[in-house]
Amino acid sequence: MESIWAPWRMDYILRPDKGNDPCFLCLPQDHRGPDRDRLVLYSDETVLVVMNLYPYSNGHLLIAPRRHVSTLSKTTEAERLAIMNLTARASDILTEVMRPGGFNMGINQGKVAGGSVEDHLHFHITPRYLGDCNYMTAIGEIRVISEHIQATYDKLVEHF
Ligand SMILES: [Zn+2]
Repeated sequence: MESIWAPWRMDYILRPDKGNDPCFLCLPQDHRGPDRDRLVLYSDETVLVVMNLYPYSNGHLLIAPRRHVSTLSKTTEAERLAIMNLTARASDILTEVMRPGGFNMGINQGKVAGGSVEDHLHFHITPRYLGDCNYMTAIGEIRVISEHIQATYDKLVEHF
């Protein structure tokens, strides 16, 4: 029998206040580069790449503008260009390091569309692995992530 190992979930489950967290996609103004505590793989003055703390699959990344904007139409052309360029780069890095079979990439805008951070637009890049949607996901609605998120972070960060 296999065990489900996702110890970082405990931080989420046990955190005292689930309602008023500051936006995790809003970094301090002068923040640049990687930041292991925040799971930020890359940041510059326009965009950032952060690992999804509640991943759909191993290596699930979020790419967002630095500005706290809620919809794609509120982003600038420079932000959209930076997001797409970084998404392309991230998919290359994930291909090299994680060897997925493919990706799901896109935006869930607004709560009814499945958006998790309603106010800060972000692009998902979800590596897909052959057989990753197994009976656990299909029947039990449980996802099994086979690697600790910090271990994945350490593999990816040097490439950004
Ligand atoms: Zn924000």
